[in-house]
Amino acid sequence: MGTVASLLAALDRSGHRLTGARRLVADLIAGRDGLFTAADLVADARAQRRRIGRATIFRSLDLLTELGVVERLDLPGGEHAYVPCEPVHHHHVICLRCGRVTEVEDCGMGAVAREVARRSGYRVERHRLELFGVCPDCLGADAAARDAGGSRRAP
Ligand SMILES: [Zn+2]
Ligand SMILES: [Zn+2]
Ligand SMILES: [Zn+2]
Repeated sequence: MGTVASLLAALDRSGHRLTGARRLVADLIAGRDGLFTAADLVADARAQRRRIGRATIFRSLDLLTELGVVERLDLPGGEHAYVPCEPVHHHHVICLRCGRVTEVEDCGMGAVAREVARRSGYRVERHRLELFGVCPDCLGADAAARDAGGSRRAP
C-alpha cells in the first residue's frame, strides 16, 4: 500500500520534481490508515504544525491519482475519499464503519466487461468496481458487543 517511498518513487518515475510540498503530502498519506479525505490531510498537516495550503494538497492528490498510486473513491453518501494504491488493476472492499480498505485483485469483471462489449457493441477499455460493507474486525466487535450484552432471552 502507500508507503512514502512508493509514492515518491511514482513521482520520480513520471519525471515530477520531488518538491517539499509533494514530499509532505506523501508523508501525510503514509501516516493514514485506510481511506482518507483531503480534509483529513489538511487537518493532519495542521495538527503537525506543518505549513501547506489546502490547494497544494488538492493538487498533489490529483497528481498522485493521475499516476495511479492514489485512487479516488466515491462513497455511497456522495463524499469523495482517497486511498493509496498500487498502480495495477484491482478493486476495493471498503468498510463503512472504520474506513478500512482491502484490495481485491481478481473480481471476474473481465468476463462481465466482455459480455457488455458484446451486447452493446462498445469497445470496453476499463472498469471500476468498489464494494462497500462491514469488515471482519467491525463484525467481530458487533458479535462481542452482543455477547457482552448478557441477558440472553429465550426464544
Ligand atoms: Zn487500491
Ligand atoms: Zn471496519
Ligand atoms: Zn477488475
